[in-house]
Amino acid sequence: MANQKLYDKAKRIAVKNWSGSTPIYCDACNIAFGKFFIDGNTVSGRWGLFCESCHSEIGIGLGVGKGQKYDRKTLLRVEWAESLKNNE
Ligand SMILES: [Zn+2]
Repeated sequence: MANQKLYDKAKRIAVKNWSGSTPIYCDACNIAFGKFFIDGNTVSGRWGLFCESCHSEIGIGLGVGKGQKYDRKTLLRVEWAESLKNNE
């Protein structure tokens, strides 16, 4: 079923961690990231790596096809890192 396929894909994306090198600067404001960075789509349709404040201005939100938020220290997706924490 197509829906099951989509669900599997979403699940895979949901547990994906950041696999590249640790990003340093926000693509929009060029200021060094703090604790988090967001790999996200923007209102102009261009993807980039943004700090939380830029993403809240030009991003289209978080979620599959919109944006993923990562912890710069652990490189885990934030929701994933939080669900790990809750299991402790
Ligand atoms: Zn920024």
